[in-house]
This record gives sequence, C-alpha cells and structure tokens, in this order.
Amino acid sequence: MLSGFPSSGGSARKARPASGNAVIIIIAAFVGAVLFTLGAGAVLYLNTQQLTAAAERVQHTQEVISSLQRASLLSERVLYRTHLYLLDKDEDDLNLARSAANNLVTSSVHIRALTADNSNQTTNSQSLSECASRLSDTMARFAGNTPLPTSDVQDCQKTISLMSDQEQMLLTERAAHSKRRLLTSISTEFFLIPVSILSLIILFALLLRDAVVLQRSAIAAQKVNDDHARSILALEGTARESELMTACRNELQLCVDVQQVYVTAATSFSRLLPGSSGCLYMINNSRNHVEAVSFWGSPSHDDFSQPESCCALRSGQPRWRRPGISEIQCAHFSASAPERYHCRPIVAYGNTIGLLYLQCDSDELVMQVNQHMDAVRQLIQITALAIATLNLRAKLENQSIRDSLTGLFNRHFMQISLEREMTRARRRKQIMAVLMLDADHFKRFNDTHGHAAGDAVLKAFADIFLSNIRSEDIACRYGGEEFTIILPDTTVKGACDRAESILTAISQLQVSSGRDSFDGFSVSIGIAFFPGDGETAEELLQHADAALYDAKHNGRNQVCLYERAFSAK
Ligand code: GH3
Ligand code: MG
Ligand code: MG
Repeated sequence: MLSGFPSSGGSARKARPASGNAVIIIIAAFVGAVLFTLGAGAVLYLNTQQLTAAAERVQHTQEVISSLQRASLLSERVLYRTHLYLLDKDEDDLNLARSAANNLVTSSVHIRALTADNSNQTTNSQSLSECASRLSDTMARFAGNTPLPTSDVQDCQKTISLMSDQEQMLLTERAAHSKRRLLTSISTEFFLIPVSILSLIILFALLLRDAVVLQRSAIAAQKVNDDHARSILALEGTARESELMTACRNELQLCVDVQQVYVTAATSFSRLLPGSSGCLYMINNSRNHVEAVSFWGSPSHDDFSQPESCCALRSGQPRWRRPGISEIQCAHFSASAPERYHCRPIVAYGNTIGLLYLQCDSDELVMQVNQHMDAVRQLIQITALAIATLNLRAKLENQSIRDSLTGLFNRHFMQISLEREMTRARRRKQIMAVLMLDADHFKRFNDTHGHAAGDAVLKAFADIFLSNIRSEDIACRYGGEEFTIILPDTTVKGACDRAESILTAISQLQVSSGRDSFDGFSVSIGIAFFPGDGETAEELLQHADAALYDAKHNGRNQVCLYERAFSAK
C-alpha cells in the first residue's frame, strides 16, 4: 500500500505542467472570446450607426421631396386662385392666392435649408427662392387688370420639377445604399453570431474538459486519501494486535498453572475482539468430557461429554455457523444455538486439547472477527503452547515427586516435605506426627499370589491411606511395601485415631487381581511426634521406624508410639 505513494506523487508531478497548459489555454480562449465579442459588438455598433445614417438620409430626401411637392401645390394654388379671382372678382380668392405665394416663399426657404448640404441643389434652391419671391411680389401688386403670373409660376414649377428629379435620383441612390448597408449588416451578423456561439462552445468545452479533469483528479485524490486512511487503520490495527500479542505472551510466561492461562487467554480474546463473547473449552484426558474453563462476555456455554458434539472438533477444522453460510448447529448447546458463532479446535503438538468458541451477536462482529482471524489463530497457538508446556511441566514434576505404582509421593519428596513441615511446626508451635507403615507378611503374599497381585494390593493400600487423611497430610511410599504419612498440625489422639482407622480399613480390604479376590490384609504402624521424639528429620524417621519395629515385634496389625515403645523398654 505504502509503495503506491511514490507513484501517485510521480503522476502528480507529471500532471502539473498539463494543468498549467490547460489554464493558459483557457485564459487565452477566454481573452480571445472577450476580444472577439468586443470586436463583433463594435462592428455591429458601426453597422447600426451606418444603417441609421443611411435611413436618416433616405428620410431626409423624402422630406425634401415632400416639401418640393408641397411647394409645387402652392404654386399651382397661386395660379388657380388668381384665375378664380379674375372670373368672380372675389377678394377671398385673391387673398388665398397671395397667401399661397407667401407660403411658397416660406416653403422655398425651408427647402433651401433642407438642401443646404447638397451642393448640386444649391443653385436650384436659390432659383426657387428667387422665383417664389418674384411670385410673391407679383401677387402683392396684382390687380384686376394685371395678367396672370403664369411665367413666374412656370419658373417655380420648372425649378421644383428640376429639384424633384434630382431628389428622386438621390432617393433611389440612397435607398440602394441603405439596402446594401442593410445586407452587409445582416451578412456580418450572420457571420459574427455563429462565430461568437462557436467560440463560446469552444470555451465551454475547454472549461468542461478541465472540470472533468479536475473532478477525475479529485476522485483519484480521494481514492488515494481513502487508501492512505485504510492503510493507516490497518497499520494501527496490526500494531494493536502485535502489542496485544506481546502482552499476552508476557502474561502467559508468568502463569504457573493452566487456570491462569485460561483466564489470560480469555482476557486477551476479549481485548482483541471487543463486544464479542466467547469461551475456552478443554478436553479431559479420557476424552469423554469437554469442560468450559474460562469465558468472556456472555456466551452460551455448557460442558459437554462428547467432543464429537462440536462440528469443528468432529471435522478437526475451524467452522462458522452463519445465516446463508452454514445452518447446521453443533449439539453442545443445552438451549437453542446462537445464529452466528465460530468454533476452532485448539491443537498443541498435533493433539486437539480443546476448543475456542466465539459468539457474535451481529454481522459487524462477524466481520471484526474475520478481520482479526490471523491474530485469533496466533492467540490460540500461544495459548495451546502455554497449556501444553504447563501440562508437560506438571507431568514431569509429578513424575519426579510421585511413585509410579501407587501415585503417592516418593521418598525424595517425603524427605523434603518432612524438613519443611518440621520448620513450619516449629514456627507455629504445632505438633506433627510421622507414621511409618509396613505391610505384614507381604513376602509370603507375593510368593503365594504373584507380584502382580502384590502390586494391586499396594495400590489398594495407597487408596486407603489417601481416603483416611486430610488434604494437608502427605502420604508417601518409603520403599517396597513400606509407607510414610506426615500429619502436620495434629494431636497424639488425632494421629492415633487416623492410624487406627487405616488399620480397620485395611483389615476390611478386598483386592481383586485377575480372576482372584484377596482379603485378610494388615499393616503395622509406628508413630513418632515432633517436637518430642526427635529434633531432626532423620531422628524422627528412625524413631518412627523403631516404633514400627515394636509393632511388628508385638505381633503386627497394630499401632505403636515411639514414646510408649521407648518407655516400655
Ligand atoms: P514383615 O511382616 O516382617 O514385614 O514381613 P514381610 O514379608 O512383609 O517383610 P520382608 O521385608 O521380608 O518382605 C518384603 C517383601 O515385599 C519382599 C518383596 O517381595 C515385597 N515387595 C517389595 N516391594 C514390592 C513391590 O513393589 N511389589 C510387590 N509385589 N512386592 C514388593
Ligand atoms: Mg518391610
Ligand atoms: Mg513387611
């Protein structure tokens, strides 16, 4: 995961110039689009200005033409009214004729002003003004005998006609120019608008491409971040697991018995899988009982008699029971089995010694267990190893301190224990008794019934000793058919009662060996007490032995105290 970082950094270094180019391209495209839009706007503005000017010129010419038409009408009216006046002598007609002539003067002044910008019409407009003035003067002097002002009117008409012709030509020319300008404007717009739209599309495409690239980069960066976060989480998880494993190993090294191992393992599992429940099971030596030895959380757990009741123990393989994975449930639950659980055999040196049971109450917990399965496996291995080591040590210790035939402590252990118990009794100021026991006529029994029958009897004696002493008492095989029992913190009566009860039990003993059954056994017992009968272990044993000798000498099947034996001599 970490090896991915340099390559992602490398691609980022490569991507930098590309993104720089993209920015330059976008800025250039933007500046180009802005300049183009400004240019297009200027062209369109100029076109509009020119179109307006052309339209104004056409309108101006039309105004000149209509003024000329009005002037023509006025001149005709002068002639017409004058004519009417001559016919009916109506002064109103004369006044109207004079008014028309005056209006013609005004109109000619207006026309002259309108055509002032046209040098071609300067002369004509001047002529019209003069004609109109002459006509006005003529009409001012006009009387009933005066001839009609036909020539003045004709002069005006001629000039107006001349001017109208010129204005018509000008109008045609200006209209054509205006049309051309309009066509140019339209074609310019037809060119500029698509080009503008095209440049906007290009700019938009560039921005879109960049946005897509940016989005992809963001997604890639997010993915790298997610991967990074995941790898950090995984590293933290691994560090936590290894810390836990180290702590568990250290704890297990401190364990002096398997019970401590069971508790340590359960605590480690509960720390590794918070929220889960579970249990450690151990199979007994006879492999007919599976015992729940420690647990964490609140798992469903019951001892069970047949290891095969568990599918994992039956198959020798770890197994999940989960909806959709496997519905088969183990038979080691007294109530209904949980929906999700995991069973994993605990194997030490090739022997299945137990079972790890993990109960998950949710799919999230199942996931968590699966994530930590390597650590679970390791924890089981070190737990199994610790259990096997302690069992082996206990077995070796047992072998070194116990007699293999009877299971009682051996002579070596007895001597160590005797020293220890004497020290303790001395410190606590307590009485301690040492019993020496010897089977009566055992050689004869052996010779008659064989060594195997003798062994069975010795084992039966040991069982009687153990069932007649307290847990703190120490029963040992001293050698051959001789035994020692140390009774710490006792009384003379207490020790004698215990010895008597052993005599009674042995006298009632029946031993089967092969097809035969034997009875009529007895032992002789000598007792020495501390303090009183000896200061050292050797002295005490010698005195107990001396008392035993007296018991033999007195006829066997009896208890003799050293003090009593001593005082009797
Ligand atoms: P006494 O009543 O005087 O003690 O007579 P005894 O025959 O018991 O004593 P003796 O010392 O003569 O014989 C002890 C016998 O115990 C000799 C031996 O055959 C037998 N013996 C010693 N150790 C074992 C053993 O481990 N197994 C068996 N079967 N017999 C043993
Ligand atoms: Mg003997
Ligand atoms: Mg004997």
